[in-house]
Amino acid sequence: MDLLEYQGKQLLARHGLKVSAGEAARTVEEAAQAAGRIGYPVVVKAQVLIGGRGKAGGVKLAADEAEVREHAGAILGMDIRGHVVRTLWVERASEIASEYYAAVLLDRSAKLPLVMFSSEGGVEVEQVAESHPERLVREHVDPLVGLSREQAARIAAAGGAAADVVEDVAEALLALYEVWTQEDATLAEINPLIVTPERAVRALDAKVSLDGNALYRHPENQALADRENEDEIERRAAEEGVQYVKLDGDIGILGNGAGLVMSTLDVVAQAGGSPANFLDAGGGSDAKKISQAVELILANPAVKAVLFNIFGGITRGDEVARGLIAAFRHIKPSVPFVVRLDGTNDVEGRRLLAEAELPNVHTARTMNEAAEAVVALAAGGGVGAAA
Ligand code: GDP
Ligand code: MN
Repeated sequence: MDLLEYQGKQLLARHGLKVSAGEAARTVEEAAQAAGRIGYPVVVKAQVLIGGRGKAGGVKLAADEAEVREHAGAILGMDIRGHVVRTLWVERASEIASEYYAAVLLDRSAKLPLVMFSSEGGVEVEQVAESHPERLVREHVDPLVGLSREQAARIAAAGGAAADVVEDVAEALLALYEVWTQEDATLAEINPLIVTPERAVRALDAKVSLDGNALYRHPENQALADRENEDEIERRAAEEGVQYVKLDGDIGILGNGAGLVMSTLDVVAQAGGSPANFLDAGGGSDAKKISQAVELILANPAVKAVLFNIFGGITRGDEVARGLIAAFRHIKPSVPFVVRLDGTNDVEGRRLLAEAELPNVHTARTMNEAAEAVVALAAGGGVGAAA
C-alpha cells in the first residue's frame, strides 16, 4: 500500500523526522486558505502515487496568494503520467543548501533490510547508481541488532554528508529505520532529505509503502489507504473479500486456490496470452461468489476473454457451474469464456453448463487445452481444442 507524499511525511514526523508545516487541499480556495495560515512563501505540490512530479510541473513555489491560486489551479486536475491530481499539499517553502537521498527498504534477495544514502539527492537515485555508484552507499542491517547510531553515522559519512550534519543525518536514518520496522513498511524513502542554509536536516519528500498484510497491526494506518487513487476494481474486490489483483493483459482469470491461479497465469503466458488479473475465488465457492467474481473480472474493459480454471476439492463443480449460469443471466457478458472443470462433481458441472446453453461459453478438460483456447479467443480466433 503506497502512501501519498503528505501521508508519508506525517508518518515520518510521528517518528521524529523533521518536516515542513503544511496542509492538504482539494480546491484552489482551500489551497489559498491553507497558504494564508502557513505563511509565505509556500510550495504547492501535486499528491499522486508517482515520482517525478517536480519535472512534470506538479511542484511549484508561490510567493503570494495570487501565485498559490495560479499554481493550485494549474496542478489540480493535471495528469501526471496517468495519475490525475485531486489533492494538493501546501507547505512552508524551504531554503535548500543541499539535497540528499535516504532510504530503508527490504532487500528480498539478501533477506535483510537495506539502508541507502547519498549526498547526491534530488535527482532520481537510479541516475546516481548508474553514473556514480560509489556515491550511493548501500548497507544491510542485521534485523536482530537493528541500525546502530554508529552504523548510521558511518553510512552518512561514507555517502558524503557534510561533516557538520553527519550526526543529524544519522539521526534521520535512525528515524527512517524506525518507521520501516515499527510501521511494517516495505519502503521508506526520502528524496530529497535537505540541509537548509541554517544546517537543519529535513524531509522534503517521502515515499512510504506499507505492507498491506500487516495493516491489521496498525489500525491507525488503515485510514491512510488512498481509496481515491486505488484501483476501483481492486477496491471493490477488497470490500467483497475477493482476492483480486489487476494485471496488464486482456485475459480474465478465475481459479480456486492461490496456487492454482498462479499456475493458470503461467500456463496462459506460456500459451502466448497475457492475463488481465489474478482472482482467487477461494475454496468452497458458491454461486453468489462466482457471480460476484465474474462481475469484477468483466469490470476491467481490457478483458477480451475469460478463463475459469476450477479444480474441485471443497469447491464443487456443479456449484461453480450454477454460479456461472446465474452470473451470465444478469450480466450477459459479450466476451467468450472457457471453463475448465475438473475434480469434485465435474461431470455434473459440465452437464449443467451444456444444458444451460450459454452463448460464448466453451468447456475444456485440461488446463493446457483451456489456456490455448482462451488465448485463441482473446486474439479473435475460434476455439480449436475446446468444444
Ligand atoms: P518529486 O519530483 O515527485 O520527487 O517531488 P519532490 O517533493 O521531491 O520535489 C521536487 C523538487 O522540488 C525537489 O527535489 C526540490 O528541488 C524542489 N522543492 C520541493 N520543495 C521545495 C521547497 O520547499 N523549496 C525549494 N526551494 N524547492 C523545493
Ligand atoms: Mn522527490
